[in-house]
Amino acid sequence: MTQFNIRLRRRDIPDEDILDDLKRVAQLRGENSLTRLEYEKYGTFGPTTIIRRFGSWNSAIVKAGLERASRQDISNEELFENLAAVWTRLGRQPYGRHMSDRSTGSMFSTGTYEKRFGSWNNALTAFASYIANDEQSFNISGASSLQSVERTASVSRRTRREINWRLRAKILIRDACICQMCGVSPAKDPETVLHVDHILPWSKGGETVDENLQTLCAVCNIGKSDTVIE
Ligand SMILES: [Zn+2]
Repeated sequence: MTQFNIRLRRRDIPDEDILDDLKRVAQLRGENSLTRLEYEKYGTFGPTTIIRRFGSWNSAIVKAGLERASRQDISNEELFENLAAVWTRLGRQPYGRHMSDRSTGSMFSTGTYEKRFGSWNNALTAFASYIANDEQSFNISGASSLQSVERTASVSRRTRREINWRLRAKILIRDACICQMCGVSPAKDPETVLHVDHILPWSKGGETVDENLQTLCAVCNIGKSDTVIE
């Protein structure tokens, strides 16, 4: 997923700095454990960087001297976000067993979904309704200071430029994880990287709404940027 806020891309961050930052955020939250989602809100480094470095989220947590999050601490949103990530990586709807399959990059097991929702089918249904009810267009009312700056700068805008993971998943699933220009999909070619793109660039007045968003592969998206600078 590429739509998150600014992330440091340095490769030479010492392990210590990462572990210290995990401890810092846990302290800030007044907790002995720390979920990935909480860390994303307050942490300095990208969760992907951390997972790559330590092998998994939980092993980073343990190395930092924190406790692994118990199942109850994992929010539905985290389970849904993980499901969306696996769905996108596969290029199609995952089966329950895919969640326990490490090669899909899933962070939670099939059992976690089944325990939370009763069955894998129930998990899928809950996910579908969560994704369908995306409220990104209304996010502006709950504005953080950054959003307020953006709002002042462009009062006429209805939406923010940033596409949140939920809307991104909605568009990818709507487009069946197929590039709308060349037709590639991770289902056929696992190397495919998909982006969600503004059809009319945001800088030209295009809004972050379903009808102005499309799925493109990285190759087509870069090709498009050459002609339309966003
Ligand atoms: Zn393409």
